[in-house]
Amino acid sequence: MKLSDDIEKVLISEEQLEAINTRLAKELSTDYAEKNPIFVCVLKGAVLFLTDLVRKMDSPVEIEFMDVSSYGDEMTSSGDVKILKDLDVSVAGRDVVFIEDIIDTGLTLKYLIELFKTRQAKSVRICTLLDKEENRQVNIKSDYVGTTVPNEFVVGYGLDFAEKYRNLPYIGVLKPEVYQN
Ligand code: 5GP
Repeated sequence: MKLSDDIEKVLISEEQLEAINTRLAKELSTDYAEKNPIFVCVLKGAVLFLTDLVRKMDSPVEIEFMDVSSYGDEMTSSGDVKILKDLDVSVAGRDVVFIEDIIDTGLTLKYLIELFKTRQAKSVRICTLLDKEENRQVNIKSDYVGTTVPNEFVVGYGLDFAEKYRNLPYIGVLKPEVYQN
């Protein structure tokens, strides 16, 4: 099967993603030039974004991974955040930047930010590729935003539907028949 046959429309092209990454990498390199921050990548959706982003940066960053789940194979948030994989290092006294694929309700990040405050990170900021602002349920604002997206379920460039479509090189919207089946 061809993944692209299931895509109704491309929302953000490869060229647009590249431009977004270049801009964000520049901002982050400037803001964190002397801080040696820990970039916490939230698995698995943000992996492609993280790896493209850090390759465009010319300042030191450490990379750590966390896996959380609040969705299962569903398309709406349960609000119930579970830590599936925690960090291997302490964040006490460190500047942390969460690297996210998309902020939707904001429930996942709200939980993680509160958690990292109790772990005494020196600062905690958010860098998200996509921001679905319309759907926010809690007061969370990302410090670095690639672009806002409408309230549609998107896939590609790390984002999945039931573990599929992560390897599409762009962000797209699925044909309704794909998730109605
Ligand atoms: P939140 O807690 O902000 O509602 O959810 C954030 C997480 O939900 C994201 O990291 C992502 O895994 C998932 N998510 C939210 N919206 C979408 C979407 O449109 N497409 C995909 N594939 N995942 C989404």
